[in-house]
Amino acid sequence: MRVLKRSKSIGMLVATVAAAGLIPLAAGQADAAPAKAAEAASCPAAGTVTQGWHSGHDGVDIANGRGTAIYATGSGTVIASGPASGYGQWIRIKHDDGTITEYGHMYERLVFVNQRVSAGQHIARMGSEGVSSGNHLHLRTYASSSAGRGMNPVDYLSARGVSLPCTPGGGGGTPSPGNNFTTWGTSVRVRTEPQLNAPVVRTLTGPTAVFVQCQKRGDTVNAEGYSNNAWSFIPALGGYITNIYIDHPAAWLPGVDECR
Ligand SMILES: [Zn+2]
Repeated sequence: MRVLKRSKSIGMLVATVAAAGLIPLAAGQADAAPAKAAEAASCPAAGTVTQGWHSGHDGVDIANGRGTAIYATGSGTVIASGPASGYGQWIRIKHDDGTITEYGHMYERLVFVNQRVSAGQHIARMGSEGVSSGNHLHLRTYASSSAGRGMNPVDYLSARGVSLPCTPGGGGGTPSPGNNFTTWGTSVRVRTEPQLNAPVVRTLTGPTAVFVQCQKRGDTVNAEGYSNNAWSFIPALGGYITNIYIDHPAAWLPGVDECR
C-alpha cells in the first residue's frame, strides 16, 4: 500500500515536470522504478564488530552472547528462513526499497517465509551454528535481489542512519518485545492466520510455555464459555492461537503489541 502510494505520487511528479517541457515523457516512462529514499534502519544487534566487510568476507560480524536478540534492520517480507550451507541457519528479508538483508548463524529463528516484519522486530536469537567460531551475527546486505556480491553493511546502515556498533531501539524502528505466557486446554490448534479456516500448523496437546510476539484481531472464537476475537502470534510455533487458550484473564494480552 505504501509503495503504491509513493510510486503514484512520484509518477504524478514526473508527469507534471514533463508537462512543463523539462522531460520528454516516453511511453511507459512513468512505470520506471523511481529512486526511493532509504527508510531509517534499526540496529540489527548489540555487540562487538569482530570482522568487517572485505574481499574475503561479504558481510560484517557482530559478536555477543548466545541468545542475544537479532532485529530486522528495516520493514519488509521474509524471503528465506531455515537451514543454509555455512550459516547453519539463515534469514533473508526483502525490504520495500528492493534491498535485501541476510542474517546468519543464529541458533533460533522467530520468523517464517512470507511473514511481514517491521523495522526493529525481533527476528532471531544469536548463535554459532554452521561455519562459525563463536556466537555472532553475520549480516550481509544487497542492493537488490539480482546483486551477486553484497555491499558493505556499514555503508548500507549508515545511509539509513545507523552506525556500528549500535544499540537496539535506536534508529527508525520500534522493538516489539512480546511476552511469555502459558497455554491451557488440550488440542489447541495453531493456525497460519488468525482465522478459523486457516491451515493448522500444529496442535498443542497440553499446557505449553509460549513466547507471544504480537497479537491481532481475527475471527471471533467461542470456546470454553468465552468469546474472543484476539489471537496471539507465536513465532516458535509458526502461527496464531486464539487468546482464549492463553492462560491470562485479559482478552487482549498486556505487554504485547498489535501485529503490524
Ligand atoms: Zn561473517
